[in-house]
Amino acid sequence: MISFDSFVMVDWSGGNDRGLAPKKDAIWTCVARAGDTDVPVYHRNRQQAEKWLDDLISAELSANRRAFIAFDFPFGYPVGFAHALTGQDDPLALWDWLAHHISDTPRSNNRFDVAGAINARFSGVGPFWGNGLKRDIAHLPRKGLARCDMPFAERRHVETRAKGSFSCWQLAGAGSVGSQILMGLPVLARLRQRFAGQVSIWPFEALDAPIAFVEAWPGLINPMVRKVQAEGEIRDAAQVRLMAGAFSRLDPAVLHDMLDVKNAEEGWIFGLGYEGALMAAAKNSLQPPPLKNDCFALPPGVDWTPVAQAHAMLRDTLSCVVGAETLRADQALGRVLALPVAAMRSNPPQPNTAVDGYGFAGGSIDDGPQVLPLVEGRSAAGAPYMDIVPQGHAIRVLTGASLPEGVDTVILQEDVTLGDGSIAFHGALRAGVNTRKAGEDVAADTEIFPTGRRIRPADLALLSATGVRDVSVRKRLRVAVISTGDELTEAGSVADPHQIYDANRPMLLAMIKQFGFTPVDMGRAPDDRSALRALMDKAAQKADVILTSGGASAGDEDHVSALLGETGSMSLWRIAIKPGRPLALALWKDTPVFGLPGNPVAAMVCTLIFARPAMGALAGEGWRMPEPLMLPAAFEKTKKPGRREYLRARLRDGQVEVFTSEGSGRISGLSWAEGLVELPDEAAHISPGVLVRYYPYSAFGL
Ligand code: AMP
Ligand code: MG
Repeated sequence: MISFDSFVMVDWSGGNDRGLAPKKDAIWTCVARAGDTDVPVYHRNRQQAEKWLDDLISAELSANRRAFIAFDFPFGYPVGFAHALTGQDDPLALWDWLAHHISDTPRSNNRFDVAGAINARFSGVGPFWGNGLKRDIAHLPRKGLARCDMPFAERRHVETRAKGSFSCWQLAGAGSVGSQILMGLPVLARLRQRFAGQVSIWPFEALDAPIAFVEAWPGLINPMVRKVQAEGEIRDAAQVRLMAGAFSRLDPAVLHDMLDVKNAEEGWIFGLGYEGALMAAAKNSLQPPPLKNDCFALPPGVDWTPVAQAHAMLRDTLSCVVGAETLRADQALGRVLALPVAAMRSNPPQPNTAVDGYGFAGGSIDDGPQVLPLVEGRSAAGAPYMDIVPQGHAIRVLTGASLPEGVDTVILQEDVTLGDGSIAFHGALRAGVNTRKAGEDVAADTEIFPTGRRIRPADLALLSATGVRDVSVRKRLRVAVISTGDELTEAGSVADPHQIYDANRPMLLAMIKQFGFTPVDMGRAPDDRSALRALMDKAAQKADVILTSGGASAGDEDHVSALLGETGSMSLWRIAIKPGRPLALALWKDTPVFGLPGNPVAAMVCTLIFARPAMGALAGEGWRMPEPLMLPAAFEKTKKPGRREYLRARLRDGQVEVFTSEGSGRISGLSWAEGLVELPDEAAHISPGVLVRYYPYSAFGL
C-alpha cells in the first residue's frame, strides 16, 4: 500500500509578484506530518516558491521521507490538446513543451502571448480566452463567448463532476485557473527534471518514487474553508493548512483508494467523491496540534533540576496551542503576531522637507551669496505643489510637505532673507540637506515585525504609518486558575480562626491579565480528589492552560500532584530553586497544567520564572526570558551552592535592596518589592556594591 510521511498542499498563483506582506491570491504552502500541521508559508512569487519546493524535496529525500505534494491546478487539458501541441498523447510531454515556451520573472511573463500563439495553431477562435493586459493579443479573445468552433472540450471529464470548478481555458478574471496551469506546469516540469526518477506524477505514473505530485482542489472542502475564513484567516492560508492537515490524517487505506484513479491524459482531482472523508480529516486541524503527552517528562535519574535546564526543557517542548485570527491593526494592542508583517508603503512615502524654509535643486548652489527667484505658490504638508520648480528657482516649503519635482534641497527659513519675489542666502549648501528621503525610515515591502511579536503602542504608530490595516494575530491564551486547600476561604467572607483567605487566586488572575492572556477564574477546590477532578475537567474545557496553587508536593493532602499523577503525563519537577517546592507539570485532557506551590511568595516566583515564559510559548510568542539589569547590591548575603535563589527586591538610589525576611509566607514582602534579585546556582557572597541581577516586575510584563 502506498503511504507517505509528509503531506504538502500548494495553493498556486498565476499572477505577478505579490510583495512581502502575506496576502491572499498569492502562493501559499503548508506541510503536515503525522497530523501535525506547520504554519502556512507565504511566497511572494513563483521564483521563491520554486526554490522552496526545491529545498523541500531535497530535504525530504535526504531525510528518507516519502512526500505527497499536492497542487491546486489541473495537471492536464481536455483530451486531444496534448497531442495537438506536441504530437504525443503524453501530458508530461505537454509539461515540457510549456516549460520550453513560458518565460517568467517576478514582474512579468509571456502567458497571454503563448496562449495567443497556441490558439493561432488551431481552426476557429480559442480555446484560450481572457487577457489581463492592456494591449490586445492576436488570436486571444478577451471574452469566452467570442470563441467558436473549438477543437477541444470546454472541460476535462473530471471537471464535469466537480461542482464549481473553472475551465482551464480561462486566463483572466476571478477564479480562472488557466493562468495557473500555464505558469505552474513549467515549474513542476523543471522540478521533475531536476529530481529525475525521484518524482512520480499522479495519475499519469505509478507512485513508486519517493515524491508524488498530485492534483488536488481545496474547493472540495469549501464549507470548512469558509468557516475558518469567517474567523479572519487569509483564505489561501486556511486552504493549504486544512488540506495538508486533512491529507496527513486520512486513513492510509482510504488514501490508497483515493489514489486509485486511471486517467492517462487529462488527469484527475484527488479526493473527488471523497469529500466527506476529507472534511472529517480536515476538522481537527482548525487548532494547532495538542502538546505531546510526554512533553513534561524529565530525564530519569535527575534529582534537583537546575533552573536553566528546566527552562531549556520547557523551551524545547512547548509550542503554540492557540489559533489565529485577523484583526484591524488598531485593535491588536498586546496581541501576538501569527505572521510577520511587512510595510505596505514606504515611510515617508515621498521625499519631503524636514523644516520650514525654501526648496530648490541643490546641485548647482555655489559658494558665496545667492539670489533665487521664487515661484508662485507653495508646498505644505497635505497640500503639495503640483508643478515643476524650474532650475535656478526656489519655492516656499513647510515641514512635512512633499518636495515638488525639481526640488531636492531645502534651506531653513531662518537662513534666508526674503525679498520681493526672491530669496537671498549664502552658499554653499550640501545637496539634499533638510529633507527626508522616501523610505529612509522604512521601505515598502520590508518586514517590520516578525512572527511572535507582542504589539506595543509604538508598533501601532509604525503599522499605521506604513499602511498596514490588518494583522494576523494569535487568539488570546486562556488561562484557568484554581486554588486548592481545605483551609482556604474567599476574601471578604467571615473566616473561622483556622481558615485563611485565598491570596493566590486574585494575584494569579491579575498577573495573567497583565501578561496579556485571558484569565479564567475556576474558584477553589477542597483537598478532595473528586472535587478537584471535576474542577480540572471544567477548566480543561474552558482554557488552554491551567494554573493550580497548593497541593503540589508529595504529601498526604497534596491532591494536585496525586491527581496529575493519574494522567501518566505528570512530572514532579524538583527544581533547584528557592523559593518554590516541587512544581507539578502535566497534561490534563491535553491541557497543560502548572501545579504551583501554595505559598504565595513561591507561587508568584514560580509563575514569573517558569509559567510566564511557558505561557508565552503556548501563546505563540516563542520562548522569551527577561533581561536582568546589573545593579549594585545595597545588602549583604552569603548563599550556599546548589540552587538558584530569588529575593524580593526593589531599586532605591541606584541600589538594589532586599526584603528583610525570606519567609515564603510573607505576602507583604511581595508588595514591598518592585522586582526580584536572582542569585546564581553556585555559592556566593554578596556584599554592598557588588553587581547583582535585578529583574523589575515590569520585565516580566507586570
Ligand atoms: P500547600 O502547597 O498546599 O502545602 O500549601 C503551602 C502553604 O501555602 C500552606 O501554608 C497553605 O495554607 C498556603 N496556601 C496554599 N494555597 C494558598 C492560597 N491560595 N492563598 C494563600 N495561602 C495559600
Ligand atoms: Mg494545601
